[in-house]
Amino acid sequence: MGLEEKIPQGVLLTTVEGIFGWMRQASFWPATFGLACCAIEMMTYGAPRFDAGRWGQEVFRASPRQADLMIISGRVSQKMAPVLRQVYDQMPEPKWVMAMGVCASSGGMFNNYAIVQGGDHIVPVDMYVPGCPPRPDMLIDAMFKLRKEIVMKRPIGAHELAEIEAQEQAALE
Ligand code: SF4
Repeated sequence: MGLEEKIPQGVLLTTVEGIFGWMRQASFWPATFGLACCAIEMMTYGAPRFDAGRWGQEVFRASPRQADLMIISGRVSQKMAPVLRQVYDQMPEPKWVMAMGVCASSGGMFNNYAIVQGGDHIVPVDMYVPGCPPRPDMLIDAMFKLRKEIVMKRPIGAHELAEIEAQEQAALE
């Protein structure tokens, strides 16, 4: 009897997918670009005071091909919209998008012809972070929420959820 017949169908692939999923949820690599004032808070998020590196979430990548998270950090002008879409299209799957601040979420105070009324008109958004601007702590909170959403979509997610919640609790202390 061959190995394929002895191993129940799908076991190996499920395990490999679980390992890759565990690695992905533990370390987002955001694409490097800032659109407006919210980007200053995004940079602070990765700097020593808030130190998102404690959870492996601060490795900003200059190439979209190495990134799996897009943080729309500010208002999206009509001129910037095609660029935003191009950066998103160049990111490999799986990938996620955060709209940081009211401008990225809905256009905010810029209700005019020059500004797209929310990043979700251009790319699919997984997480909206409220505020003008959101503080770095809110970005940290959003990262944990997104990680929890990702793990809960997988079969072994419940086990990993406890680990993420323990990290989240430590971050709040
Ligand atoms: Fe600037 Fe506020 Fe808009 Fe962020 S939400 S880009 S801080 S105006």
